[in-house]
Amino acid sequence: MDKFIPLSVPNFEGNERKYVDDAIDQGWVSTGGAYISRLEKELANFMHVENVAACQSGTSALHMALVEAGVKPGDVVLVPPLTFIAAVNPVRYQFAEPVFIDCDDSFCMDPDKLRDFCQDECDWDGESLKHNGKEVKAIVVVHVFGNMADMEAVMDVASTYGLKVIEDATEALGTYYLEGKYSGRYAGTIGNFGCFSFNGNKIITTGGGGAITANNPEVVDHIRFLSTQAKTDPHFYIHDEIGYNYRMTNLQAALGVAQMEELPEFIKRKQKNFELYKNEFVDCKYAELMPFRVGVSSNKWFYSLCIDRNVIITPMRDIILMLKEKGIETRAIWGLINEQKPYLNYETYKLEKAPYYADRILNIPSSTSITEDEIHYVADEIKKLLEALVNG
Ligand SMILES: *Cc1c(COP(=O)(O)O)cnc(C)c1O
Repeated sequence: MDKFIPLSVPNFEGNERKYVDDAIDQGWVSTGGAYISRLEKELANFMHVENVAACQSGTSALHMALVEAGVKPGDVVLVPPLTFIAAVNPVRYQFAEPVFIDCDDSFCMDPDKLRDFCQDECDWDGESLKHNGKEVKAIVVVHVFGNMADMEAVMDVASTYGLKVIEDATEALGTYYLEGKYSGRYAGTIGNFGCFSFNGNKIITTGGGGAITANNPEVVDHIRFLSTQAKTDPHFYIHDEIGYNYRMTNLQAALGVAQMEELPEFIKRKQKNFELYKNEFVDCKYAELMPFRVGVSSNKWFYSLCIDRNVIITPMRDIILMLKEKGIETRAIWGLINEQKPYLNYETYKLEKAPYYADRILNIPSSTSITEDEIHYVADEIKKLLEALVNG
């Protein structure tokens, strides 16, 4: 079959080639060059923050956030079970221990369970929070699929117990609150740290790349310093701290500057396509298109269908293969991180929604270049298939 509708592909309709050529012509291809600082400024302006550091990946941004948050071996970090594993792996890079807290219906961390864990499973002496004698240092909150976690409630818990909040906004660049205490504030600019990714499937891409911001602009400067090998004196190779090779390259940043020019348009398309899908699936009896949080302008990066398991018991693997036959690329939501081999021995707390959704969510094509006809075709074929699976 000729038809192929991909899950999510990058979009280079703008100045990408021009800027990358320019970076090559100038000879600035590595971790120095004007595109890096330009991208940082544009990200900062876009999100109304003072200081952003560009880095190699979302994963390295998350690692730097944990380093700056003072997360040390044996500390406890509260993390989500239902997300991409890169949100949790950096906790282990620091030899700290994750505890998995359940999600709510936005797939983001459930703030009530977060509070219950701190209240009922930990000891608070007015200065530090301890779980089984280990210090609870930080929370990693992921804004899943471009949704926004309930940040008001999360920040409330964090301030009660003096915890650092690391926002994994790798999927949520451009998502912001429309109302409430954080009205106008962007995902990644509310906690102590906000981490972003420009990997190939994200809303903008630099091939591979990421960025980090912090509520303290000086901390961002320090991250920039650490991410370029901590050169206290670059000419005489003096290093007073352990650095990292985590800096973005100028080639990546050239791509990023071009993508930033298109970001508002990409968000518009994602939002419009979500509405189209919504209309297509209103009459679907066997699956629901998952909504995004009310009171938030979401970038609507990824769309999720929730399959009704009361009537459809076909394994997700088979559903995905059957849709592939129709030229439609779909994807299961992630496997639970706490069920992955490296994490089998870590604690979980009241996981109910995470396993529920892990078994039901199917991600459907969401590229910015998808056409209305393709959306119609995708929805039609999925509805037909689900109907057949119920009756068969
Ligand atoms: C993509 C992603 C990351 C990692 O970003 P990279 O740039 O690929 O390192 C981390 N967390 C989540 C939730 C992601 O989706």
